[in-house]
Amino acid sequence: MSAKLIKGPEVATAIREQIAIDMASLKEKTDKVPGLAVILLGEDPASKAYVGNKEKTSKALGFHSVVHRIPVETTQEDLLKMIDDLNNDEDIHGILVQLPLPDHIHEKAVLDAIAVEKDVDGFHPINVGNLVIGDDCFIPCTPHGCMKMLEYIGYDLKGKNAVIVGRSNIVGKPVALLLLHQNATVTICHSHTADLAAVCREADVLIVAVGRAEMVIGDWIKPGAVVIDVGINRVGDKLVGDVHFESAKEKASYITPVPGGVGPMTITMLILNTLESFKRKHNLK
Ligand code: NDP
Repeated sequence: MSAKLIKGPEVATAIREQIAIDMASLKEKTDKVPGLAVILLGEDPASKAYVGNKEKTSKALGFHSVVHRIPVETTQEDLLKMIDDLNNDEDIHGILVQLPLPDHIHEKAVLDAIAVEKDVDGFHPINVGNLVIGDDCFIPCTPHGCMKMLEYIGYDLKGKNAVIVGRSNIVGKPVALLLLHQNATVTICHSHTADLAAVCREADVLIVAVGRAEMVIGDWIKPGAVVIDVGINRVGDKLVGDVHFESAKEKASYITPVPGGVGPMTITMLILNTLESFKRKHNLK
């Protein structure tokens, strides 16, 4: 068997086309556009590239896009003041502080300072709590992107065994909740899981977010499983996922490649969340 690819750019384009349609009608109704503010501290090359892509994509879709590129030495007090100003800025509907933050800044204090209704990354504890209870919230972008990919291939999760490898707050835990809300039976694995390979072999849907290059091999995959590889690892001059693509694609029915899989979905979901925030503010839901 050779798996079909779930191509991130293809799924993202379909969603962006719908965003463009929505934007045209919202602009007509409100004479305003959604605004996204991103704060980037320092010069980390990967963070700079992510922020650049967020700016480019939001501008291309006609959003009001503001990027605050500030020195790495910026104090926490000044950063919190900047967030407060953005919380009170009528033209801004989404605020994102690019992670990771330098050591002198307390990440939780920063994430908690973002107004819940502008927290388009979905990291504020109130959004996280609402996600747990299945209430309206901003869904973190990468897990949201994974779900959109499953939706794109028309996959019905009800009653399926979903296994997630990785339990981070930004990927593993939220994606587990989203799968649970779709009535999958969910297992979350981590670095202490006994016999990870055996657990993975039970998965109808396997989502891997570990940060270890090509750790999950084809032999761990149930024939016909759907595999979503969230990992992005640089090996020499190549980017690879957490799944060993060549062996996994011989077992899976669908698989996301790296690059060209989940990556392009994350930014699209950020834009979608910002649009959602704008609609809520203008009672256009
Ligand atoms: P974290 O480092 O926060 O979490 C990694 C998780 O993997 C932890 O729960 C850890 O377990 C678990 N883990 C580590 N080693 C093993 C192992 N040997 N066996 C089983 N579990 C293990 O990573 P993130 O969730 O932030 O990111 C994961 C990957 O996804 C990275 O490659 C990252 O670059 C990528 N990523 C991609 C995004 C995209 O847009 N496509 C967005 C976000 C992340 P424990 O909790 O026990 O330590």
